[in-house]
This record gives sequence, C-alpha cells and structure tokens, in this order.
Amino acid sequence: MIVVLKKSASKADLDRLIAKLREQKCEFLLYENHEPVLKILTKQNLLSNDFFLTQPGVQAVFRITPAYDLAARKSPDQFTSIPIGGRKLEATDFMVIAGPCAIESEEQITEIAQRLSQLGIRFLRGGAYKPRTSPYTFQGMGEEGLKILRKTADRFQMNVVTEAVSSSDVAMVAEYADVVQIGTRNMQNFRLLKTVGKQKRPVLLKRGMSATIEEFLLAAEHILNEGNPHVILCERGIRTFEPATRNTLDISAVPLVKDLSHLPIVVDPSHASGKRNLILPLSRAALAAGADGVLIEVHDQAEMAKSDGPQSINFSAFDQLLKSLRQMAPMMNKEVL
Ligand code: PEP
Ligand code: MN
Repeated sequence: MIVVLKKSASKADLDRLIAKLREQKCEFLLYENHEPVLKILTKQNLLSNDFFLTQPGVQAVFRITPAYDLAARKSPDQFTSIPIGGRKLEATDFMVIAGPCAIESEEQITEIAQRLSQLGIRFLRGGAYKPRTSPYTFQGMGEEGLKILRKTADRFQMNVVTEAVSSSDVAMVAEYADVVQIGTRNMQNFRLLKTVGKQKRPVLLKRGMSATIEEFLLAAEHILNEGNPHVILCERGIRTFEPATRNTLDISAVPLVKDLSHLPIVVDPSHASGKRNLILPLSRAALAAGADGVLIEVHDQAEMAKSDGPQSINFSAFDQLLKSLRQMAPMMNKEVL
C-alpha cells in the first residue's frame, strides 16, 4: 500500500500516523523527497483504505496488493484441486456439470440423469430452491426435490450440484449435495457465504451479475476465511447494455481469474446467454479460454420446462456439445470429466 501525504500535512500529522502504524504492528518505509510518502507492508490487509483516508494529512492511498489473500495465486502453477465424490478435480480436468434448471418430478430427473450418465456425465445439477425473479413463478420442490435428486444421482453414480439460498438451509442442502451452489443473487450474501465456509462440502460460487472480478474473489475469500478451502468459481454472465442475450458472458473473466487466483473456474453459458443456440459456441470458448469446466442446463422437454426452457438444450444437442469438447480438450491439456 502506498500512502501519499498532503503537502500541507504537518510533522504532528505524520508522527500521529506513524504511531498508529506501530500500534498495529505494521511494517512501513517512509520516503521524504518532495512530499512524504509511506510504503506500508502488511501480511494481511488489516488496514483498510478508509482507515488511511480518515487520518489527518493523508492525500491518497494506493493498494498495490489484492484485497484478498487466501484466494490469491501465490505461484505460477498453484491450483486448488477439489475433492468431489471420492476423486479430485485437478488442473487437467474439465468438469461438465449438466442437468435441468429445476427438479420438477422424479420422472423428469430420472430420465435426464439416465441419459446424461449414459453420455459419461458425473455431475448432475438441478435446483430444489429456485431464486426466481418473480414470486409467481415455480419456486422449486424444496427438500422433497433434494431427496429425489440424491436418490437419482446415487442410482446412476453421479455427484449432485445444487443451490442453497439461505443460511438456515445450508446444513440440510449439504446432506444431499456433493457441491453446494451459491447463486448469482447471493454472491454478496455474506452470512450465507460464511455459513457455506463453515461446512465441508465444496462450494460452486457464481459471480454476481453486477460484481467486479475483485468483488467475486472477495466473495470467495469470505468462504475460504471460514476454513473451507474448496471453492469452484463460476462465470455466469454479467448485466450489460446488451438485450440480445440474457446476460453477457465475460469470457475474459476466465484468464483474468486464472491469473489472479488458484481456484478453479467454470463457465455457465446457459444463464450467460439465455439462448440454446449459443450454448455450443460459448462452451467451446470457455474451454479455449482455459476454464476448468462448464455448467449446462439440459432438459428432455425444454418447451415444457418450469424454468429456463429457452436456454436448455436437449440430449442430442448436448451429445454434440460433449463430442466437440472432447475433441478440443487435448489442445488445452484437459480431459473432459
Ligand atoms: C441456476 O444455476 O439455476 C441459477 C439460478 O443460476 P444463477 O444464480 O447464475 O442465475
Ligand atoms: Mn436456471
């Protein structure tokens, strides 16, 4: 952190600031050429920008290290592998998470899981608690849906990825899930982040639809800071001025996050685009950009789906997509899981 003092700062201002830094056991260097500048080294970001900006005599503060520490990449090949269902997701894996937006019935999830498992898919998604924009649309089957999802996944030896929307549900959702998803609308629900950080299941953290990359990684930091090291990030599109797609897939988030963090990142082209004909090219783009996987909404009868039908693809489109990803993966030193 670089702290620049005002030209008008008095000796007393500087002395007071230095005393406060010593009190906080904060290492610093003082440069006094034309105007005094403090270079402050802290292991953790114990002192905020606001702390400095409220001290008399301070002109400006520049942070030169990221505000997150646990989520930050410390060496070029650092990668946090994620244990899911008896194996680990490694840097050379490309995970394909697939399934409907919501669990609608036992028949529906059974049909989808069976077809997906026949195609070699190990990660079955499906929401039982749906954070819907309107209270008048399908809100999900709740715990009954989770029971069906778990039973079906076990039957086809698949792992469950499903969302928790409130802190009070986390323990219950974690009993049925292999990975607990936090949705875009909850990326800054800090109580919820802390709660999933205290439990043992890996967390799939979706980027807030208006969140910056720094806010995204700080949300992950909240989970890591509670002791859960297993966070998978998910770029799922952000709000922009463009109405032609549901959101705008920020594909640059993938290499950016890879550079800044050791956490795996997957891409959700379904919620990013809202359009089923974009799922194949955006999935290919995700793999080419260096993502560690994709999350795809698949439905056997998309026209009847209770949520997100327009972005859900059928089995034949999904089969094509998988073939394409499997063909491309070796070029990226990846294996499709
Ligand atoms: C979902 O995955 O079904 C979902 C609701 O996603 P998001 O939180 O990204 O909108
Ligand atoms: Mn959905």
